[in-house]
Amino acid sequence: MIEMEEMKILEKYSHFIDGTWKTPKQNKYFTNMNPVTGEKLTFVARGSSEDIDLAIKNAEKGFETWCALKPSARGQIIMKIAERIRENQHRLAFLETLDTGRPLFLSMQMVESSARFFEYLGGAADKIFGDVIPAHNDYLTYTLREPYGVVGIIIPWNAPLQTASRDVSAALAAGNAVVLKPAEQAGLSVLELAAICIEAGLPPGVFNVVNGLGNEAGNALIHHPSIQKITFTGSVQTGKHIMKAAAEQIVPVTVELGGKSPNIVFEDANLTEAIKGSLKAFLANSGQVCAAGTRLFVQRSIQESFVTELIEQVKGVKIGNGLTNPMMGPLISDKQLERVLQYIDIGKKEGATLEYGGKRLSQDGYFIEPTIFTNVDNSMKIAREEIFGPVVSIIPFDTEEEVIALANESEFGLSASVWTENIHRGHRVAKKVLAGQVYINDFMPIDVEAPFGGYKKSGIGREKGLESLLTYTQVKTITTKM
Ligand code: NAP
Ligand code: MG
Repeated sequence: MIEMEEMKILEKYSHFIDGTWKTPKQNKYFTNMNPVTGEKLTFVARGSSEDIDLAIKNAEKGFETWCALKPSARGQIIMKIAERIRENQHRLAFLETLDTGRPLFLSMQMVESSARFFEYLGGAADKIFGDVIPAHNDYLTYTLREPYGVVGIIIPWNAPLQTASRDVSAALAAGNAVVLKPAEQAGLSVLELAAICIEAGLPPGVFNVVNGLGNEAGNALIHHPSIQKITFTGSVQTGKHIMKAAAEQIVPVTVELGGKSPNIVFEDANLTEAIKGSLKAFLANSGQVCAAGTRLFVQRSIQESFVTELIEQVKGVKIGNGLTNPMMGPLISDKQLERVLQYIDIGKKEGATLEYGGKRLSQDGYFIEPTIFTNVDNSMKIAREEIFGPVVSIIPFDTEEEVIALANESEFGLSASVWTENIHRGHRVAKKVLAGQVYINDFMPIDVEAPFGGYKKSGIGREKGLESLLTYTQVKTITTKM
């Protein structure tokens, strides 16, 4: 599927600022690791506050140019980016798979949803309306939705292209300019995206990427006095740090954080579908998905047969190098592998039953077995904390009321799935579960149109859809005496 020509990567990657590659001011690089081999993939620029400064100055210039275009002209350029993403789909998917280890088919899906973000929000760029407010008869009062200026975006490594596309498309459609810092573990596809944007006609400086470490480039970005809004996706711990920086500068912030999402299977579910969906919920992207369904609540009457069948299915999961298109690739890093193995150890010590998996798979790369725990109590650490690996905790329940209470007994509230053939029960449970998105009889169908975000510690604000577009605007009220 992928041509040799599309499989080249550079010896080292610089920043992408003002529409071109820029070497880091301090000429420092860090090593980007290949998760399949555990060896060096390439070198990536280690950005400093000077690089962030340069990117922001250029973004301020870019913002002026971008704002001067009429909304439909901006929208056409953004939609052109979608076209260019599709033209480069194999190369982008290859880079994403190489960098993250994930199966090619998943990368291809993510490239398509990235294109959809630019297409959908590009089409909305000239449909951001204000209101006319009927306040007094002798005044005309109306509102404008204006961009903030330069938006700082920080993303994690688990879905770099899709997350960048999601946030950047909305920021640009609303008329802002962007400085983005990808995660140090994986960000090559984001650099390629920035180059694609220029080819599509985006003026230089409107979308800049500065690579680097969180506590260096990331920290400089969130504390920069010219940043007018921050969007962050990542862990709760870093999210708090970001919110404090935003508080100091009084800038709005959207945070998309972690989850420990309940996946609820009732005895009246279509079990074939529920098993298929439950598998995807904890294995997709090796479980490195913020919305992963890792607390699997199964009604006690079907628990035994459900677990037997789930294990049968897990045995058939092909694991390997993402480029060979298996069902599951490795974890992202040695640190992540260590973290997941530690949680498996904790689960065993807490008294849960390890039904399947639990071991590292090879000495090369960061492969791990899909892991199933039963006899889990909702109060155990493995049921409370986000593991971010292919580990599922199966928890039995008897009644609908009980499972709703258990599902809500979590500090997170990102997503939930409910499996039942009873339409009344499906909607009833969906309404009572505290989560930003609830799926009935599916797990996370791909879409760009619907808002996405967390209840409780899973985040503040929404990404995706028109809801997200408006968060990149501020409202101005104009009142005229007539
Ligand atoms: P993380 O440590 O919070 O890192 C996320 C990003 O923040 C990275 O780019 C990181 O840079 C940067 N960063 C770290 N410290 C920083 C600082 N002091 N100042 C500014 N930036 C800083 O998260 P992670 O462990 O890599 O990613 C996994 C987590 O993200 C999980 O908890 C997962 O649930 C969450 N997540 C949530 C969503 C969602 O949509 N809700 C989506 C994906 C992932 P470095 O990489 O250089 O450290
Ligand atoms: Mg990598």
